[in-house]
Amino acid sequence: MPISGLPPYDDTNIFARILRGEIPCKKVYEDAWALAFHDINPQAPTHVLIIPKGNYCSFADFSATATEAEIAGFTRAIGKIARDLGLEQPGYRLLANMGADSNQEVPHYHVHLFAGRPLGRMLSSA
Ligand code: AMP
Repeated sequence: MPISGLPPYDDTNIFARILRGEIPCKKVYEDAWALAFHDINPQAPTHVLIIPKGNYCSFADFSATATEAEIAGFTRAIGKIARDLGLEQPGYRLLANMGADSNQEVPHYHVHLFAGRPLGRMLSSA
């Protein structure tokens, strides 16, 4: 069900539970700022989710309240993951849903990394 993406942060959400190790994930990468794992319902041959270690509801929350170090560390982690997966050629797409109209479902900020086939136009017509 789509959610607002706004605080307060709900620490029972599924990605919070993955971060605490309560639920398994297919881990791709981890450092001080980010955890990356395969999406359970992939929409492309490569579909990785990258989440910050801190408790942020969405891009709106993260961009407004995370520290400079968290923003830099998280952004660099995304670039490194894509590079290490060999995706810079022929390319990839990043996507972050925020709030109800975007269909955000999990209220912990995450970036989708899609790759592995031509990805078409940016938005579906639906
Ligand atoms: P969003 O609509 O941007 O909030 O996307 C949430 C994503 O989380 C969806 O693509 C789901 O398939 C994915 N997802 C939900 N639960 C899990 C899980 N336990 N492990 C991996 N991915 C998940």
